[in-house]
Amino acid sequence: MALTAAAASTSLSSLFLRRTAARFASALQSWPSRPLLSASIAIPAIAINIPGLVSDIWEGILKAVPKKKTSHRKKRQRQLAGKALKDVKAINECPGCGRPKKAHTLCPYCVAEIYESWKARDAEQREMASQSKS
Ligand SMILES: [Zn+2]
Repeated sequence: MALTAAAASTSLSSLFLRRTAARFASALQSWPSRPLLSASIAIPAIAINIPGLVSDIWEGILKAVPKKKTSHRKKRQRQLAGKALKDVKAINECPGCGRPKKAHTLCPYCVAEIYESWKARDAEQREMASQSKS
């Protein structure tokens, strides 16, 4: 079974080789008779007019197409190359607590402190209201 397949493939490939060799030989025989100028023009004509088995292979060579779809990750990596996050250089010292903070923004520590004080104040007011009711 394998032997016959191998024999068939070798006979096919030898047939293919013989046919292409014959074509190239005929092309080479006409080569020196033509002038040099027409030879440069004739090369694309040879590339276009390849019949038979070679044309199937030639089609794949001429039309280069990506084998697989570019994944979302690969595309984003390519498009975001050199656009990474930058270091923050505009840092000031908070006048309230002395900790470092971003320039032109509120200090998160001081803001948290203010919220805490407001929460405590609101809790006190609620307590006072509940005591006055009862
Ligand atoms: Zn602060």
